[in-house]
Amino acid sequence: MSYESQMLEDLGMPARIEVENALLKILFKHNGVIKEFGSGQEIVDEIANEFKLDENQRSAYLQTIYRKENRVKRAYLWHRLLFRAADSLAREKLVSRPTSTFSLTHKKEWMLTEEGYDKALRLLNIPISQKYFLPTKSYEVEKIVKKLNQKPRPKDHNPFDTTRKLLTSTKEYAIRARGFRQAVIEAYDYQCAFCGIKIQAPDGMCWEVEAAHIVPHSVNGKDDIWNGISLCHLHHWAFDAGWFTIKNDFEILISEAVNSLPKNYGKISDQDFLQISNKNLKIILPESKEIYPHQNSLVWHREHKFYPKITSL
Ligand SMILES: [Zn+2]
Repeated sequence: MSYESQMLEDLGMPARIEVENALLKILFKHNGVIKEFGSGQEIVDEIANEFKLDENQRSAYLQTIYRKENRVKRAYLWHRLLFRAADSLAREKLVSRPTSTFSLTHKKEWMLTEEGYDKALRLLNIPISQKYFLPTKSYEVEKIVKKLNQKPRPKDHNPFDTTRKLLTSTKEYAIRARGFRQAVIEAYDYQCAFCGIKIQAPDGMCWEVEAAHIVPHSVNGKDDIWNGISLCHLHHWAFDAGWFTIKNDFEILISEAVNSLPKNYGKISDQDFLQISNKNLKIILPESKEIYPHQNSLVWHREHKFYPKITSL
């Protein structure tokens, strides 16, 4: 038995497989990412607390004597155990290594892969069907988000997707849909572009806003950032139903049909459901102009969805 294994046994440290499962669950809880392990990091203590490690277990260290340099190197046993567990998850392709994640996000973090995400959901008894709505990141979805955000803004954008039928796998399709959703709602800082509401479920597990397609999916609207807008459930419905549309200068245009509604329709307490709190009457926009909705998508919405149809703006 090695010096390290002997110490692990003597101190009654948790088994590596238990640490691996705890890491997957903690990764899920931390939105799919945790920093590379180092001393003084909260995450190291957080996982130690999960196992109710005592002071001896937390502070035990391994000593290696470097004869040539005549010095002693110390490494905390608990850190080593965490690193070995994460390394084993990376070998099983359940997490991406900090070096791989760095090339994607410029942060040295362990990140869940799709496979690791599914395993974390199984360990936590969360149905996989909920994955679309969860805020937890995965390496594969982050890759899509990066791609969507980095494409140069086209002058003439075709909002229709002609390649969709080429996607044969449902898994690939689901990852792309999650990438679209995440890129859009992040661009709008999780706010509804119409009313500005920003709210999560009380357990922090999902955001209220949805990534709406301006040219809808049903007519092959593209899953890209220029054809997307972040809207709350109510205003997503109202946008799709044609209650309002958006001009090329991003001003909101409301259907005149609202004036002929019965008195008790469309009210939230005494507020109209299409009341714009924003004084300049424009939608709330992302920080970067590169990812503003494209006029070609907006023109299509005005001509095909808005009620009543308008001929010119
Ligand atoms: Zn809203």
